[in-house]
Amino acid sequence: MGISQDARMMLTDHNVMTSSTLELSLLSERYHETEGGTSLAYMSDSVLNIKLDKKGARCSDWERRDLTPQQIDYAAADAWVAYEIFQVLFLRAMKERHDSEIPSILEFCSEFMDRRPVKVIAAKRNTEKKEMKVSKRKEYPARKEALYENCRMVSPTGETLCTCSAKKLKWYIERGLADQVSEDPPTIRLRFQPNGSGHSGDPYYLGHKENICVVCGATDKLVRHSIVPHSYRRHFDVKDKSRSSHDIVLVCQKCLQKISSVDMSLRQLISMETGISLAGVNPKYIISPELQRAKKCAKVFICNNSENLPEAKMKQYKEVIGMYLQKDPEQLTMEDYKQVVTEDLKKPNPDHKPHEEEVIEAIKNDRDKLEAFVHRWRRNFRDKMRPQHLPDHWTVDRPLDFH
Ligand SMILES: [Zn+2]
Repeated sequence: MGISQDARMMLTDHNVMTSSTLELSLLSERYHETEGGTSLAYMSDSVLNIKLDKKGARCSDWERRDLTPQQIDYAAADAWVAYEIFQVLFLRAMKERHDSEIPSILEFCSEFMDRRPVKVIAAKRNTEKKEMKVSKRKEYPARKEALYENCRMVSPTGETLCTCSAKKLKWYIERGLADQVSEDPPTIRLRFQPNGSGHSGDPYYLGHKENICVVCGATDKLVRHSIVPHSYRRHFDVKDKSRSSHDIVLVCQKCLQKISSVDMSLRQLISMETGISLAGVNPKYIISPELQRAKKCAKVFICNNSENLPEAKMKQYKEVIGMYLQKDPEQLTMEDYKQVVTEDLKKPNPDHKPHEEEVIEAIKNDRDKLEAFVHRWRRNFRDKMRPQHLPDHWTVDRPLDFH
């Protein structure tokens, strides 16, 4: 349950890379039930009829060098129970199948791999009827209009220059710059010879593109997805950033969820290889110890706890606050105390640099390295997501300098 989080911790704390994770709560949602929750203890009880005693061991000291027998039992039971639950649910799923073909375990699991857990929130525990709510997974706003309208623009000599939207065709026709020469697909011929040759000769760019999820073929709730994550791409030079149409594809919300896990694995790998932490260079926020001390002292004055304070202590507290505010301690007012207490302890660190920026800065002036980086993301997408509906001529190896 929430195994992707554990995998992340194994990487950051112990440098142990996980190639894939299987989220049991998703399996349970499909082949069992999640009304009583998705905790391992609940599932162990409801699927296996085994009660896990988690309370004692969970709150014990896991930092100690020698774990107690109780802690060892607890850790081992966690791993064993998860495996047993999987076995039961797998068999149940096989019984439900109507076709005679039994998939391999890997095939069966692929739908539940590298995914985030089902979140079940217990609402109003003390009401008679236990109401449970399944939290909504984060969804990106889906496109309302088709991304590809597959209209065409040709030169006066009949050479196809580019594909474009119906709006663009209309714009050219209304200004007398082009004539419509075909309805299907809608095509205009320019009345002037353009300077460049557009995308002429580029079969990928000029090819017909379907408005479907490139992974599963769904036509509903589609979003644009950048195969090289936008957080990296935004740090490319402008000329490279603009050459992105090959790597922006349509996917459905369901596939997008899986893509984010798959992307996270590659990010982790990049982080390990480059030594650039996913948290970035230098902490994002800094905590001022002076403010931390001043807050503690100001709270005493605000909560009226200062009356019983020895005078020397009170003076000392005021000095701490005065020092932070750079103000005479004797002149401090209630407003000052309130200001200190409400001030945000975390301040943005000007020396912080996001992981993505640091990674791209190190390679963006080396064409080969930058190209290898882009190819790697495409390969990751193709190999891990196995997209079945990529547009014709989409390739992992398309050169970076191709528009
Ligand atoms: Zn899909």
